Amino acid sequence: MDSSPGLLPDGLPRRRGCYRISWSDALKQGEFYSAPVPCLSPASWKDNQIAGKRWALIGDAAGLADPITGEGIYFAFKSAEIVADTIDRPEQYSTKIWLEIGRELARAAHMYKRFYRGRFFGGDFKKRTVQLSRRSTTLRAILGNLIAGNQSYLELKKKLFFSIPSIGIDLITGRQETKAGFSPRL
Ligand SMILES: Cc1cc2nc3c(=O)[nH]c(=O)nc-3n(C[C@H](O)[C@H](O)[C@H](O)COP(=O)(O)OP(=O)(O)OC[C@H]3O[C@@H](n4cnc5c(N)ncnc54)[C@H](O)[C@@H]3O)c2cc1C
Repeated sequence: MDSSPGLLPDGLPRRRGCYRISWSDALKQGEFYSAPVPCLSPASWKDNQIAGKRWALIGDAAGLADPITGEGIYFAFKSAEIVADTIDRPEQYSTKIWLEIGRELARAAHMYKRFYRGRFFGGDFKKRTVQLSRRSTTLRAILGNLIAGNQSYLELKKKLFFSIPSIGIDLITGRQETKAGFSPRL
């Protein structure tokens, strides 16, 4: 295997058979694309019609993407599963989507502004959250579970409230191990 860095015909550096490219090269050479993630606002959730006579929307088409993480693949599969389950009871589809996905994403839509534009302890909310997480394993576990889909947005406030003592102990003692484990969704 060729381990010496070389240049591929298209100009990409090669090392050990893998394509490796630095950020500065990527910025110089790369073509950039973007695409919107269709996250609904709290107002849009109120009149989001996702099914009618002989039709139903799933995934992005139904606005089923998490406005905070941008995640939509799980919800696309989940809504496909729900549409299949309710194919002979189509009147139940919208309600099931709301109960199993919609109300969670609607809650996230309410939190969106606070998360991305809010202030916390006199600073940017995201920055402060990361700073606190670095010092608290309890908070890290909660946020890890949120991103992994194991912590619901609906229960987040309650979870954080009841974790205040544990987070406080983390901050005061610099404790590294807690019982609050991070468990990825498999
Ligand atoms: C940049 C970016 C990064 C993302 N990263 C993540 C991530 O890390 N994790 C995650 O969970 N989600 C991520 N998402 C969101 C995720 O990609 C979508 O939520 C998910 O793919 C939605 O699946 P879908 O089947 O509903 O729609 P799509 O995956 O968009 O599938 C719709 C398909 O329909 C086709 N189509 C459209 N119109 C027509 C037509 N008229 N006739 C025939 N075909 C048509 C399209 O070409 C497309 O292939 C990301 C989205 C973007 C834009």
